Amino acid sequence: MFSDRDDGWWNDGVNFICLPECGRCCDEPGGIVYLSQEDATRIAVHFDMELKEWLTKYCRTTHDGRFVLESKPEDGRCIYLTADKTCSIYEVKPSQCSAFPFWRENLVSDRAWEKTKRICPGIDHPEAIVINGDTIWLKLEEDRLAEEGFRMV
Ligand code: SF4
Repeated sequence: MFSDRDDGWWNDGVNFICLPECGRCCDEPGGIVYLSQEDATRIAVHFDMELKEWLTKYCRTTHDGRFVLESKPEDGRCIYLTADKTCSIYEVKPSQCSAFPFWRENLVSDRAWEKTKRICPGIDHPEAIVINGDTIWLKLEEDRLAEEGFRMV
């Protein structure tokens, strides 16, 4: 997809602001959050738990063995999404969450980006600021690395 930093239609920047108390990107049943080993370690430390214990209690694995965050059985939403739609681990949240909406699938074309607006009201919001191409590229890399995931414990 973006094999080179200069491939992106978004190189000149896009308008975005993350709106406090929005939480719509987290409020998706069936969402999958891949974890890098750094993500998992950081969150386990936050809960003062051993990595293996945290992975066993709060994660599951995909068919190819990558760790993903567990969902609530009752509604398929993230286990760390609170009743008031905030993130209870905001300060240590997974890098894929931090990278949203700058995921490869959302930036693959300007059309895909337009579609992402349906989920994310921060895109082209009146208070949005320009997020430059360098920053977007870093977010894409965060997302890519997280999606590669890890399998060992
Ligand atoms: S949907 Fe967009 S504006 Fe809302 S919390 Fe997620 S990133 Fe922020």
